[in-house]
Amino acid sequence: MVSSDKYEAVIGLEVHAQLATNSKLFCGDRIQFGAEPNTHISPITMAYPGTLPKTNAKAIEYAVKMGIACGCEIVQTNYFARKNYFYPDLPKGYQISQHTTPICKGGQVKIKLADKERYIQLNRIHLEEDAGKSIHDIDDEYTCIDLNRAGTPLIEIVTEPDLFSADEAWQYVSEIRKMVRWLNICDGNMEEGSLRCDANVSIRLKGETKLGTKVEVKNLNSIRNIKKAIEFEIDRMIGIVENGGTIQQQTRSFDASNDTTFAMRDKEEANDYRYFPDPDLPAFVLSNQYLEGIQKNMPLLPEQLYKQFQIEYGLNNYDAAQLTEDKATADFFQLVVVYTKNYKQIANWMLGPLKQILNEQSKNFSNLDLAPKLFAELIQLVEDGKVNFSIAAAKILPLLFASKASPLQIAEQLQIIQVSDTNELAIWVDEVIAAMPDKVAEYQKGKKGLIGLFVGEVKKKSKGKADPKMVTQLIEAKLNK
Ligand code: ADP
Ligand code: MG
Repeated sequence: MVSSDKYEAVIGLEVHAQLATNSKLFCGDRIQFGAEPNTHISPITMAYPGTLPKTNAKAIEYAVKMGIACGCEIVQTNYFARKNYFYPDLPKGYQISQHTTPICKGGQVKIKLADKERYIQLNRIHLEEDAGKSIHDIDDEYTCIDLNRAGTPLIEIVTEPDLFSADEAWQYVSEIRKMVRWLNICDGNMEEGSLRCDANVSIRLKGETKLGTKVEVKNLNSIRNIKKAIEFEIDRMIGIVENGGTIQQQTRSFDASNDTTFAMRDKEEANDYRYFPDPDLPAFVLSNQYLEGIQKNMPLLPEQLYKQFQIEYGLNNYDAAQLTEDKATADFFQLVVVYTKNYKQIANWMLGPLKQILNEQSKNFSNLDLAPKLFAELIQLVEDGKVNFSIAAAKILPLLFASKASPLQIAEQLQIIQVSDTNELAIWVDEVIAAMPDKVAEYQKGKKGLIGLFVGEVKKKSKGKADPKMVTQLIEAKLNK
């Protein structure tokens, strides 16, 4: 294979995110993935003559939220435009989009790579409607059309040609998915098509500043496929150039069965979209007051919470990153800190035993039936030495879901409260020391590792209920005299 050290890849991504509004962008039809085909198709969706579109305010709000989160300039006077082309799943014969006035301009998205962080520059975020779906694989003879999706609001998030590897693209799309979920404006489910990506790829010699001819790989529907498609394209292009060929500007498609791409059409055949402002839709103007209102109601963003968790709660990078991976997790953490100040322990419990139970039950923090107060009490119970950590995790935590009983009550019921009464423990400690004079002598000569043996013996005598921390202290106090 040719050395890729000679070349640099340049990538620009166009991500389409379906907005999680109840109804469509220009009419009241419901949006429902997986609904019976062609059941949410009013005359407006069907583009019957005489119907008029009306803009869904929620969709505008969601687009603005994404723009604010990405540090974009929000454009205050906006127009919708008609992008004319014929396709069977496009009932009007044009798509309503934004042409010269994207609702958000510029902005950036921070990505974290193994060795560095980068800000990926955005070109724009604009609003548009989705088309219907052509289904080619349920009938031998015909293509079937489901128009339920037609008119679903999308935002298209377009980067500058500012990504330089498949890994960067992977991280970027992960960040976009995290952000739209965090803002609750899109469910981010790529397998359902809620988030789709077109990847524009070119190569150039290292050091060259002019962009090379690009190829656009359409409709990538998983982060893995985005990465694989880009990797394949980079290799393919380098191969062409190394063999003295020139790269054709093309639209290509990805074949997930063998991780390759194939040509769909050359640029020569590209559509002339004959854009013009949609005469049925008045300009929409976003007042300062409206924008301030949205700004005021923005949640803290993952990056802000990531920093706050480190500064305010002393968490390390890893814990802070894990706890801000999604909003429900971060929210739960913030509910628990109200009840206990053992911040590090909250992180350990959430990312350890609690996450394990959630994984086993295919649940997550957003549908967690666990009272933060009871969870905090459990953590405190262990911190106070009343119950041993592994027993608490294995026996009490699973019973705490939807529980009315407190962790202490459960522990009492299960008879797993640790004995931390010094007098009671001292009796066992004395018995163990008296029974093992040889070991005691060895210990006192310097074989300090024997402490584990003594503690183990005391635990046995207590049937596992002795608080090991206290037992250790007691034994050390006795033997180190
Ligand atoms: P088009 O008009 O073909 O849709 P645009 O200029 O609108 O192209 O860009 C679409 C996307 O392609 C953007 O994300 C942009 O950053 C990216 N892009 C443009 N030129 C290149 C290039 N030469 N190499 C890689 N990406 C590019
Ligand atoms: Mg494009």
